[in-house]
Amino acid sequence: MQPTVLKLTKVLELEQRQGHRNEAVIGGFEAFVPVWQAEAGREVPEAIVAAVGRLAEYGDLAEAERRIRVSELLSLARNAVDAPPEVSDTSARSHRPNEPDSKPPADQPLQSVDDAELERPVVHLRGIGRKSAENLERLGIRTIRDMLFHMPVRYNDYSRLVPIGRLSVDDEVTVVGAVLATNLRDLGGKRSVLNVTLSDSTGEIHCSFFNQPYLEREFHQGRRIVVSGRVESWAGRLALRSPEWEPIERKLTHTGRLVPVYPLTHGVSQRWLRRQIKHVVESRADLVGDPLPARVRAAENLPTLPDALRELHFPESYESQVAALGRLEFDELLVLQLWSRRRRLEWLKKDGVNLSAGRATAGDLTGALPFELTGAQRRAIDQIAADMSRDVPMSRLLQGDVGSGKTVVAAAALAMANGAGFQAAIMAPTEILAEQHAVSLARLLEPLGYEPYRPDEPSHQEHRSGRPPRLARLVGSMTPSAKAATATAAATGAVDIVVGTHAVIQDSVQFARLGLAVIDEQHRFGVLQRAALPQRALDPTAGSGPAPVPHVLIMTATPIPRTLAQVLAADLDQSVIDELPPGRKPIKTSLLTSRDRERAYQVVRHRASRGEQAYVVFPLVEESDAVAARAAVAEHERLAAEVLPGLRVGLLHGRMPASDKEAVMASFKSGDIDVLVATSVIEVGVDVPNATIMVIDGADRFGLAQLHQFRGRVGRGTAESVCLLIADEPSETAQQRLEALTTTSDGLELALIDLDMRGPGDYFGLRQSGLMEYLRFARLASTPVMTSAARVAADLMQSDPELESDDLAAIRARVDQFTEAAERI
Ligand code: ADP
Ligand code: MG
Repeated sequence: MQPTVLKLTKVLELEQRQGHRNEAVIGGFEAFVPVWQAEAGREVPEAIVAAVGRLAEYGDLAEAERRIRVSELLSLARNAVDAPPEVSDTSARSHRPNEPDSKPPADQPLQSVDDAELERPVVHLRGIGRKSAENLERLGIRTIRDMLFHMPVRYNDYSRLVPIGRLSVDDEVTVVGAVLATNLRDLGGKRSVLNVTLSDSTGEIHCSFFNQPYLEREFHQGRRIVVSGRVESWAGRLALRSPEWEPIERKLTHTGRLVPVYPLTHGVSQRWLRRQIKHVVESRADLVGDPLPARVRAAENLPTLPDALRELHFPESYESQVAALGRLEFDELLVLQLWSRRRRLEWLKKDGVNLSAGRATAGDLTGALPFELTGAQRRAIDQIAADMSRDVPMSRLLQGDVGSGKTVVAAAALAMANGAGFQAAIMAPTEILAEQHAVSLARLLEPLGYEPYRPDEPSHQEHRSGRPPRLARLVGSMTPSAKAATATAAATGAVDIVVGTHAVIQDSVQFARLGLAVIDEQHRFGVLQRAALPQRALDPTAGSGPAPVPHVLIMTATPIPRTLAQVLAADLDQSVIDELPPGRKPIKTSLLTSRDRERAYQVVRHRASRGEQAYVVFPLVEESDAVAARAAVAEHERLAAEVLPGLRVGLLHGRMPASDKEAVMASFKSGDIDVLVATSVIEVGVDVPNATIMVIDGADRFGLAQLHQFRGRVGRGTAESVCLLIADEPSETAQQRLEALTTTSDGLELALIDLDMRGPGDYFGLRQSGLMEYLRFARLASTPVMTSAARVAADLMQSDPELESDDLAAIRARVDQFTEAAERI
């Protein structure tokens, strides 16, 4: 059985199915015939070779004649191949030296000669010199392995081969033709344009190549070439501008297929990089082996890693590209899943303290509220109280959109810990937010007899029975002596709740008896940081044995997409507040350009005249040349003096001393300021129900999550609120972001849009953390892959919790690496 004959039958069958349009092979049968004849061995019957020869003028034949020749030849060929084919796929794949599963080392741990080769710098590759290597380094490509894993941003679909006579404008196509004429024009300087007319039997098309005069030598008259690109119309004629091209006799890299398009950098051209990557993929992809055991691959129907890499770069079809990407995603998500499960197991080994004695105190707090809890808040409080009533430490994520009322839930948990005789801490990412929490908590806890802790008050330094419960704040801007006194009070048990910033509490506080730590992350993704908790803050009276650890509650306003929730679910229990307090009116959001800026201020003036308050947010504190954004400081002056005369305009930015910030917030809260000009410091936690307008000037400079947070500062009272987004010349993606905001106020929906637009790196602020190396391919919105990764992780850990079996060594190594990286951030 001859593969060449089989290939011939396939091609003919395809041609028949497609209605004899001479499109079954690239370049038509004219091009196919010589190539096939060259490949055909001696054993191919003479009759077939002769019949194939008669296809050489196929393009010029009428359809009826084509039909006859194809069917004659087909029956000849089929007779020659009546044995069942042993190769069902005639593509390059079947000729690869390493068939899937035929390479035993694939399932073995990777520490080998292969590995060493992959770690070699790219400069060792043929055709890559020192200069090119430097250029590639800017793309994050240092080693041969990096090159293999350099992901295309997209693909040009040049798989559609079209006769010239059937082209239409805007088609993305591949055309095969013979060079009819060339014309090189000098445009002055180093610029030139080479016009090439190509023809096939159906028509002519013009191609132009810029600043590559040397190509004239390549395109001699009569040479058959393949070009790919998007069809344009010039002066009524069809043309291709700077198309990809290659000679017909070569195996196609740049044309005639799904062609990868890579991110580039100065000095690295698409064509050059594509060629290098193709070379590396062909020569080295098999060296990567496969970290996944064959049993998992088989069960989940995944391609091998080398195959996935081949298909990632030069896919045979969209389907195979999707399967390849799915495989690469799977590996990453499996590691995340295993990591998450392992953390859970380790957390469960720790001892916690049962705080059920404090339930009544939590009940006192909720009983004294000036409002009814929403059903969702009640549910969250119940879940938390149940967790804290066990000997196993709580590990729970409380998720609720901006304004959903998470603070009360936290307060109930804090009160419960204190009621059971233990201390509690609540940590916020910024000082402003910590201050806000201190104010809100003091108000919520006041009915329970709490008093603010005063570092300069001697009687507050003692811990004696019968004293009132105390709430302390601890932030970086406090005087050193106040900070020291507070830390001592925490260590001696003279305070019951400490509210502060993560940094301060983690660095400088020992607690006498810490029962609960609440971590407020707002929109930053701090779940990974649980490792940094004050685990040393323990009950010294616990005696010998492992000391108990505090219960942990993490609060986030970042709506977590379902798929990601699946990763975290293994590690954290989750409570969701999916219901806003009653009476909230939706916030009307509009998008304005700078020409409408005056209109925005009219709205501000109008609302202020009704006694309502406004925020005006700017992206930067000070004027910067680099980013031509209007700075809050300058704008504050201008607004107060010229734009909003008669209104009381305040200023809040991150570089002000803390006492000034507090004073400004207090005046805004009490209504002594009408308009608060601010930087992004107000993005979290600020709570002034009478504020009903949010103007964000330079909105295109903020991310979606941040804008959603800003907007959440209004709409907190019962009056209808507006959010006005001003953007001068938004980029296309910024425009999309802003439009998304005007269409929905649903945080989860926005989070999904955000994920989609930015990828997980930016979304979680992980870009700088180094963790992104572990998430290069995974789209966290890819549910099916996530689901199978979760299932596989559960199965693997069920039978082998420590991942000790030999065929898991490579995976275990990755989980270890990820664990280490996650702890470093
Ligand atoms: P976030 O979840 O953004 O932290 P907060 O806890 O700051 O939300 O609550 C936002 C506002 O809603 C606060 O003014 C709070 O007092 C109020 N609030 C919370 N729960 C309720 C409720 N059940 N009914 C009415 N108002 C509530
Ligand atoms: Mg809050």
